Amino acid sequence: MPLNVAVVGSGLSGFYTVAALLKSAPDCRIDVIERLPTPFGLIRGGVAPDHQKTKNVWRAYEKSALQEAVRFFGNVEVGRDVTIDELKRMYDAVVLAVGSPLDRNLGIPGEDKKGVFGAASFVGWYNGHPDFRTLDPNLDVKAAAVIGNGNVAIDCARVLAKTPEEMATTDLTAYAAEAIHNAPLTDIYMCGRRGPGDAKFTNVELREMGELLDCTPVVDARQLDEGVPADLDDRDRRLRERNLETLREFTAQTPAGRKKRLHFMFYASPVEVLGGERVEGIRMERTAVRDGRAVGSGEYFEIPCGLVIAAIGYDGTPFPGLPFDRKRGVVVHENGRIGDGVYAVGWIKRGPTGVIGTNKHDGDLAAEQILENGPAGGKPGRDALEAHLRGKGVRWVSYADWKKIDAAEIAGAHAGAPRRKFSSVEEMLALLG
Ligand code: NAP
Repeated sequence: MPLNVAVVGSGLSGFYTVAALLKSAPDCRIDVIERLPTPFGLIRGGVAPDHQKTKNVWRAYEKSALQEAVRFFGNVEVGRDVTIDELKRMYDAVVLAVGSPLDRNLGIPGEDKKGVFGAASFVGWYNGHPDFRTLDPNLDVKAAAVIGNGNVAIDCARVLAKTPEEMATTDLTAYAAEAIHNAPLTDIYMCGRRGPGDAKFTNVELREMGELLDCTPVVDARQLDEGVPADLDDRDRRLRERNLETLREFTAQTPAGRKKRLHFMFYASPVEVLGGERVEGIRMERTAVRDGRAVGSGEYFEIPCGLVIAAIGYDGTPFPGLPFDRKRGVVVHENGRIGDGVYAVGWIKRGPTGVIGTNKHDGDLAAEQILENGPAGGKPGRDALEAHLRGKGVRWVSYADWKKIDAAEIAGAHAGAPRRKFSSVEEMLALLG
């Protein structure tokens, strides 16, 4: 009897689990269940539209998706169309690979004002994620503040800073391109609550900010004096020192006719979003770093801005019936085992950190544990899921269906762009008939 496995979520961690299972248990049948009609999670909806090389990793996932043993069930929401308990009855193992879809809150007064967005929403909006397509941020603003010093903050700042020419070969959604490229934006403030040596962005991403056509990086050289933290291992130390070197190079840049400025502001922690109904500015407290933590100095300043993007990390969401650690935003598990034939991989297991490859280890481990644990086979798997979905009248999207959506997106692309994304589920389902 084949081993029947359901993988909930078709992002990176889901597909690394599929690949590991295919390798170690050739006799298994794997069903990938995805809420959206489109596969690949953050590769499609999170990775920046101008990072097409990174997005190309989907080709590896497609190799798995096209295997006879694997089926894609898109447009099926666990919790709405089928429950975890039902999946447990149908499958020998259920793997939760649902990521961290929510934004972490800033936890400061005024963050509910219009014009304040978390990065999950803002990135989802410019990437055409169906949940955020109607976000409609008012970009009729001269200045924007991006809070956070990670790669997501860099992504948001860069997408706001790039020119139409720089974005011409990307799959930035048409509505976002129109809003961003018509915005009178001249100043983007990227705010880190700790120092430049503590920043989490990687050097390749940082260097890109010095090569923008119409935007100059602005760095206060006096903020670069502290160096990198003493307690880093050699690799991290080298990486952080490289960042400092790049920021030093930025201090020598002059605007040379470029319209926009990207201000790197370190030692600055947000304390209040200012304004009436809409954001008009953000009040920051200057900080010092003590024992690796940002400590307020009691000295404040304000950044006038009409847009605030909080790129301060993501949060997970609980599943009914599964234990959840609200503080860490992850499912409660023991080395990936949630118990009772249910496993977790990726951000819902580890929290929202790590690069694409970090998920491979999770997939390998989950496959190993599933095979160790057994029982091998015995549950009905796919047949039961299909019967269940049919009974509920769910129109699931197969991988072949997705390829039709994919082909229509590619066919609709303007010259030089990889695709023109559909951002509404209704549009995609209508295309499939
Ligand atoms: P991240 O790397 O954890 O960065 C979060 C940033 O937010 C940090 O600078 C953190 O500062 C700051 N922060 C947290 N809470 C804050 C608060 N209350 N006030 C002010 N600042 C606050 O997270 P991320 O940028 O969301 O990225 C998630 C993961 O995806 C990372 O592993 C990232 O490398 C990866 N990613 C990679 C790429 C790429 O490779 N191109 C692109 C996008 C994302 P502290 O350090 O002081 O906590």
